[in-house]
Amino acid sequence: MPIDYEADPAVSNLRNYLRIRSVHPNVNYDGCIAYLRAQAAEIGLSVSVCEPLPKKPILVMTWEGTEPSLPSILLNSHMDVVPVFEKSWTHPPFEAHLVDGMIYGRGAQDMKSVAVQYIEAVRRLKANGIRLKRTLHLSFVPDEEIGGATGMGEFVKTEDFRKLNVGFALDEGIASPTDEYQIFSGERTIWHLKIDCPGKSGHGSLLLPDNNGEKIRYMIDRLMDLRAESKKQLADHPDWNIGDVTSVNLTMLSGGIQNNVVPELLTASFDIRIALSVDQKQFEDTIKRWCVEAGNGVSYSFEQRDPYVVPTKLDASNPFWVAFKAASDELKISLKQCTFPGGTDSRYLRELGIPAIGFSPMNRTVPGLHEHDEHLSAQVYLRGIQLYEKIIPAVANV
Ligand code: ZN
Repeated sequence: MPIDYEADPAVSNLRNYLRIRSVHPNVNYDGCIAYLRAQAAEIGLSVSVCEPLPKKPILVMTWEGTEPSLPSILLNSHMDVVPVFEKSWTHPPFEAHLVDGMIYGRGAQDMKSVAVQYIEAVRRLKANGIRLKRTLHLSFVPDEEIGGATGMGEFVKTEDFRKLNVGFALDEGIASPTDEYQIFSGERTIWHLKIDCPGKSGHGSLLLPDNNGEKIRYMIDRLMDLRAESKKQLADHPDWNIGDVTSVNLTMLSGGIQNNVVPELLTASFDIRIALSVDQKQFEDTIKRWCVEAGNGVSYSFEQRDPYVVPTKLDASNPFWVAFKAASDELKISLKQCTFPGGTDSRYLRELGIPAIGFSPMNRTVPGLHEHDEHLSAQVYLRGIQLYEKIIPAVANV
């Protein structure tokens, strides 16, 4: 007899959240806020909503601990989801179809599932009469999918955030196709680099000096060599992930006016994600040197330059990690420590020195975030709630 997930209230609850179209661009968060307020009221958690920027609400549910003066635990999730190519979906992305035990919908993995897993775990803990030592805050933030600057990035600057007195945070991770669960303690640093190659403009039939085609070729070559090196490193170390190497992609090329005119400027833009092992000062010096070698007038600038953020320590010096690890040992689940390949809101917390772990409790799940037909098995989802029922008390009782 297959399990009837239709009747499971925790499954229904996730499906209701997935039906709210908090999708970019120009997300209207009203539906999410109404849904979350109702959740908090049901469970008996206090709610506050602040709006550091108009129409960019941050909702925080709070469960006070028995020792509320201790630094608190933050369970963070983002309310927004990325756009869909609706025609390419087998199951409509905002109807949360449940088919053969699979829940389909934008946000099923990234990360409405995690948000409702936090909520369901807290609901059960409260229903069982459990009290936690530290205060627990569940934050629901906007705009993570467009970089987070207008969401968590603004929130961390507010008095409302400071008052939460956060000592440790959990945030999103990524699904893992194996039995292991992935744990993220840090992220690569994002540099969006733009290279300007000026040169002598003139007739396209000549071989004029000071040619920007030659210059841009030199810069592209150097950066693509670096890309090849990273690909080789990954091939040589099958146990590494993309987060362990520096990735380089040529994302934009511009310049030119007409095919028989050599332009006065050619530019190339690169999306670079710098591995945590790279010395960033040295790396920038290398780019500087390449610009000199490329020829007269070649320069670089940053369209985005994130700072280096120290990763969260996963060792005996971090009592929250020790508690997290002990709980997972007790649950007999295995964890794989990784560096997050993209960016998440955790970096805004880590920048403030707050330890943060990225963890989405989804194993035996092929990552489908941002893809068509994003889905999650109801079984994996429900198991994740059970994991949080152990992990949340463990970290909140440190
Ligand atoms: Zn996400």
